[in-house]
Amino acid sequence: MNKIALFPGSFDPFTIGHESIVKKAIPLFDEIIIAIGYNTSKKGFFPVENRKKMIETIFKEEPKVKVEIYSELTVEYCKKVKAQYILRGLRTATDFEYERAIAQMNRFMKSEVETIFLLTESEHTPISSTIVREIMKFKGDVSNFISKSVNAYDYL
Ligand code: ADP
Repeated sequence: MNKIALFPGSFDPFTIGHESIVKKAIPLFDEIIIAIGYNTSKKGFFPVENRKKMIETIFKEEPKVKVEIYSELTVEYCKKVKAQYILRGLRTATDFEYERAIAQMNRFMKSEVETIFLLTESEHTPISSTIVREIMKFKGDVSNFISKSVNAYDYL
């Protein structure tokens, strides 16, 4: 059976921290679905279709990686796409506490979906989509936090 991992998130925008987690996961799974959670009442900073295009460009040479948009419970979406694993990245103890609660709630709802955590590289620990968005609101340079293969401003 193919091992399929769903990497859910807002990815508003997708940073080099996210990219590094996906790259670490590539040898571990047969397929990785980067799933952009979309909430119609919370539109976000980047249009969701542009977030998808940006991530697809970053992984265009990687056949194991797919990008999708979803707006339902993550565990229900896992069932739909036959993902047995949820992939999440951990930066800090705060991330851990938040992620632990979500993973355990997901397990209550769908015990067959296992959450796998990968620890971020230390140099990626301070990088967050929130801070990248704040810098972009003031037209700052975010090129050190986003994949070299894309220009984040092209996707606004
Ligand atoms: P969410 O809105 O679900 O928190 P994010 O897009 O912020 O979605 O993050 C998706 C996942 O990526 C989460 O597991 C988060 O902890 C992880 N992540 C975010 N930034 C980094 C980073 N710099 N390094 C490693 N993992 C990260």
